[in-house]
Amino acid sequence: MIPSVTLNNGAKMPIVAFGTWRADPGKATEAVKMAISAGYRHMDGAFLYENEKEVGAGIHAMIDQGVVKREDLFIVSKLWCTFHLPSLVRKAFEKSLSDLKLDYLDLYLMHFPVGAKPGDNLYPTDENQQLITDGSTFLETWEAMEKLVDAGLVKAIGISNFNKDQVEDILNKPGLKYKPATNQIECHPYLPQEKLINFCNSKGIPVTAYSPLGSPDRPWVSPNDPSLLEEPTIKDIAEKYNKTPAQVLIRFHIQRNVAVITKSVTPHRIKENFQVFDFNLSEDDLKAMMSLPPKRLFHFLWSKTHKDYPLNTEY
Ligand code: NDP
Repeated sequence: MIPSVTLNNGAKMPIVAFGTWRADPGKATEAVKMAISAGYRHMDGAFLYENEKEVGAGIHAMIDQGVVKREDLFIVSKLWCTFHLPSLVRKAFEKSLSDLKLDYLDLYLMHFPVGAKPGDNLYPTDENQQLITDGSTFLETWEAMEKLVDAGLVKAIGISNFNKDQVEDILNKPGLKYKPATNQIECHPYLPQEKLINFCNSKGIPVTAYSPLGSPDRPWVSPNDPSLLEEPTIKDIAEKYNKTPAQVLIRFHIQRNVAVITKSVTPHRIKENFQVFDFNLSEDDLKAMMSLPPKRLFHFLWSKTHKDYPLNTEY
């Protein structure tokens, strides 16, 4: 049994997930197959990643081979910003569902709290490289997502990259039908997110961590950026437990009861990243990991001037 986090709809979300951002379409199917063979049951995807057909093919190959049943999997997709107008939400959801060749999803997240002009351009920007809004509010987008639950298309809905005030706005929405099942946010020892995690948990919203290894393949990485996988503190802890730095970085979340998504298309790393249930970091290790110099890796500068840009508040 894989440890899981219980969502507010009663569903169990496996605590370690397999990420698919930047899983090249040529590699995604094999990667997903390897992940399922290695034991992952929680697959994190998104329309934005432009590989849902290939991810779906990997899932179906494993179902067809009898390795896993659909009901054993926890499959996630995300609504992109250009589909925030309520009239577009169901269409966007159905596109992901049909690319994945599934008849329901376990979780559908609002990928980012800003609504952007609909169209083929996924980052519709003006002459200042700033996102052109669609005039929507994330509250009306949320209402449209609630209808997907009512239609039986998705078991739970959640949010991603929402700050505290934005989580509160959803919770305080008049007529709220479903609370967000999770808030998926950047989280790792450079950005431990203690305040946002405590806030979300106090409202019954578990948190899911993305980029736990510091997203070393993020397109905007600079050679001078610090590297979590190379941090002496992390390497020392890893050595102590005879584990790898990646396994320590993943374990960090499990012990905080935070679900964690790692991405890899490399067979031995896919396996390695799942072998994280046979050791325990000490309180001192966790403290040392939380004391690294802070650094946020994602700034979403393309939406900086949008009214709902999430990173203008303390947390
Ligand atoms: P991760 O922190 O998981 O890092 C992935 C990178 O680390 C890849 O380059 C991978 O290389 C490498 N890697 C993986 N395992 C190891 C290992 N054991 N040792 C050394 N290197 C390793 O970053 P992501 O940013 O991809 O985040 C994980 C997932 O979270 C995404 O795939 C996506 O599903 C989700 N996410 C969600 C966001 C959101 O806005 N909601 C934003 C960002 C991510 P390789 O593949 O070549 O093996």
